Amino acid sequence: MRVERLTVREIELPLKTEFVTASGAVGRRRLLLVDLEDEDGTPGWAECVAGAVPGYTAETVDSAWDTITSRLAPEAVGLRVDDPAGVAAALGDLAPAEPMARAAVEMACWDLAARTENLPLAGLLGGTRTNVPVGIALGLAGTPEDTAEVAAAAVDRGYRRIKLKIQPGADLDVVRAVRLRIGAGVALTVDGNGVYARTDIDHLAALDAYRLQMIEQPLPADDIGGHAALQRRLNTPLCLDESIATLADLEEMVGLQAGRVLNLKPGRVGGFTTALTMVEMAVAGGIDLWVGGMLETGVGRAHNVAFASLESVGLPGDLSPSDRYWDRDIVEPPWTMDSGVLPVPHHEPGIGVEVNEELVRSLTTRKQEIRFAP
Ligand SMILES: [Mg+2]
Repeated sequence: MRVERLTVREIELPLKTEFVTASGAVGRRRLLLVDLEDEDGTPGWAECVAGAVPGYTAETVDSAWDTITSRLAPEAVGLRVDDPAGVAAALGDLAPAEPMARAAVEMACWDLAARTENLPLAGLLGGTRTNVPVGIALGLAGTPEDTAEVAAAAVDRGYRRIKLKIQPGADLDVVRAVRLRIGAGVALTVDGNGVYARTDIDHLAALDAYRLQMIEQPLPADDIGGHAALQRRLNTPLCLDESIATLADLEEMVGLQAGRVLNLKPGRVGGFTTALTMVEMAVAGGIDLWVGGMLETGVGRAHNVAFASLESVGLPGDLSPSDRYWDRDIVEPPWTMDSGVLPVPHHEPGIGVEVNEELVRSLTTRKQEIRFAP
């Protein structure tokens, strides 16, 4: 089976509430969807995790649009999808520095490959869990007491882990307030999105008092050595996210003991082929794993749920149900959480949810289609 058609489109949909992190605020989510079709008309869907503005990494919706339309799509059409690793290698040569753009195409190929084999994507990836535990990420907003209220409500809803976005000036107070409000028994983590500096190491060490499950990416992405120094000071495990873009980054993390946890987003590291290799490396290096979120629609959520079904990806992921961010998700059925878990759709082929194409059409702001021309 080969890719006969590739369509990339940009959609825009409003978030229920603005999401604020140390990298900025998002009120309307612009994102790219990639859908493919083989000779028989079997589809494959994925979304690109890049945001509208640089900050999280250098890639953006606009840069990914250019990468996909000008470099990846013309080569992707015609590729054989029954060999996703081959697809990943071909795309890696074309856009080595654009893992988010690459991942959108690569992961759509995985969905298509799973559907042609009538397998669930989770099964094709090797995942066996029937449901995955869900954590929630809370943006920076209001007073520490406001955040504590929101956190308590999330615990009541069943979320298995609370993650707080922090930044200098909005960290110890909010962690203290939330810990007091939700009690010692609830898993609590923080994420700095790289805005702290090595000079903040003493300050960050004070977080040890709150028995956090982990501290995620406090220092800049390119400072893996700084994280190693910080980890030596901390009892709390450090988790790297933005720092780990390539296999070499992960090798460095393991070698320097720069953290004990990895937030692995297949959509950020070039797709499932690389992510699966990273899982093997992390397990061998004694690093725990979970899947982060990038304000995905139900399409990206489906890919992340499939990946989180791997036995080694054990910690609760940022896999909030559809109604956390969207009034109406673009997939049917929407993702719903029951007792703090999402079900893994093991009985449906591919990503396991249907894309509402009419809704997607109505949200589309631009679109380009590339067909295979032998
Ligand atoms: Mg993060």
